[in-house]
Amino acid sequence: MRGYLFSRQRCYFFYWDPCTPYNRGLLKRVGGLLNEGRFFQNCVSMMKILTLKNGFSLKLSGQIEEGVIHADPPLTVALMPGWIPHVKPRLLVAEGDTIKGGAPLFEDKRNPAVIYPSPGGGVVTRITLGPKRRIDEVVITLDAEEVWERFEAISPARIEATHPDILRHMLLKGGAWPLLRELPFRDHPDIASRPAHIIVTLGWAGGHLAHPFFALDGEEAAFQHGLAILRRFSKSVHVITPEALGAIPNDLEKTLTARIRGGYPAGDPGHYLYTLRKEAAENRSWYIEAQDLVALARFVTEGRLYTKRVYGVGGGASSVCGHVVSRLGAPVASLEPRGEGRRRQIGGSLFSGLFLPATGHMNFFDKGLTLLPVGDEEDLFGFLRAGYHRPSQSRTFLSVFNTGAFSLDCGMHGEERPCINCGRCAEVCPVSILPQYTFKSMGAGEVEEALAHGLLDCIECGLCAYVCPSKIELLDFFKTAKAQYRKERDG
Ligand code: SF4
Ligand code: SF4
Repeated sequence: MRGYLFSRQRCYFFYWDPCTPYNRGLLKRVGGLLNEGRFFQNCVSMMKILTLKNGFSLKLSGQIEEGVIHADPPLTVALMPGWIPHVKPRLLVAEGDTIKGGAPLFEDKRNPAVIYPSPGGGVVTRITLGPKRRIDEVVITLDAEEVWERFEAISPARIEATHPDILRHMLLKGGAWPLLRELPFRDHPDIASRPAHIIVTLGWAGGHLAHPFFALDGEEAAFQHGLAILRRFSKSVHVITPEALGAIPNDLEKTLTARIRGGYPAGDPGHYLYTLRKEAAENRSWYIEAQDLVALARFVTEGRLYTKRVYGVGGGASSVCGHVVSRLGAPVASLEPRGEGRRRQIGGSLFSGLFLPATGHMNFFDKGLTLLPVGDEEDLFGFLRAGYHRPSQSRTFLSVFNTGAFSLDCGMHGEERPCINCGRCAEVCPVSILPQYTFKSMGAGEVEEALAHGLLDCIECGLCAYVCPSKIELLDFFKTAKAQYRKERDG
């Protein structure tokens, strides 16, 4: 807070920082006395406002609008092990088996204690294998009356007195453990891990993702129970939201630790940890998305896998553009049944999500479905056009003067070429690493140098790959490099 005070003879400049520990304590006391107004509520909850450095946002057509649509109940659900990063699945079922909802479907070969549960009760009707016998999809045709696996539950009042190892055991046994993710590799946490911080994110700016107003409607109590569970694992639990989401429900507002100002990827837990951590040991922190936290809390307090999910469906080739209520592992087609034309489906965030087959199902972590035109049509003499409608980070197109929404497609609009050292990737990188040098170091086998450039800080936002004029798939490169480094480190 800053300003000027005038007396007859003088002008005084004053500056008062509400974020110093003393002033925060003062505000808390004043806020307790007045106890009204959002400003004072924020003071009481010690909410910070952080500004994302760099980043990038596009105004895209097909934004998700307010309101909720209920999808028809699906006939099938599935898990897509091939789409879950790092996991090495070992199936625990075969085609034709009958399985209860929440019963183990596959385990992770790296640690068989980590299991992934069946998202529904019925018959395993299809197991699809991809290249190198990768298990792409396990499809369950649902019974009319689904039967659910039951687990021991803990009442909300007992959470604070429950030993974290008991909670850990419960989550592992019921398949809720993988809902938690561990930085910097974004894998499920090591089963013995003790996180320095746990970050709960309410969403990301600039993606087609569900808004907490709709995604968490009626789940406020479960969200609070989830926070209580996380506090058993770490005293440092942070709830963050991108400022771009605007107002959020009052109950959630009170739990906020930080609002992140800026474009995509504001709200990413990796970026928040980057601003928070003070030493290398803090790199190993956990994060969880808000809907997954609700599912985790409901599993602990009700003893049954919770499958309700609200998906944000949008994009230039989508006819829905809204919040679609369905369930974990729902078929892609059930969320947007009216769409026509050639298009691609992206699960998760726009710049870093994964391509989903049209006949496939939503992935274990997906909360968003973006449908984009394929964009592989011939653009005859396209180089002669000034690009007024072309979405681009570069200021070389006339689109720099276009304030309307852009229609993004999946076309590459060019081929991969050598790096031209333009520096655009570094301009957008939210964690200030130099992607071009990191990429070249890895290409030359200089792992130490890539680490020095900040390879492990990469939050896998995908912006560098999007803006690269040489069409270098930097995101894929960094993901592979991180996974290889981890494999060599851990043996
Ligand atoms: S290097 Fe990583 S964090 Fe930086 S822009 Fe690329 S993907 Fe995002
Ligand atoms: S944006 Fe692409 S071409 Fe430009 S410096 Fe980065 S990697 Fe090289």
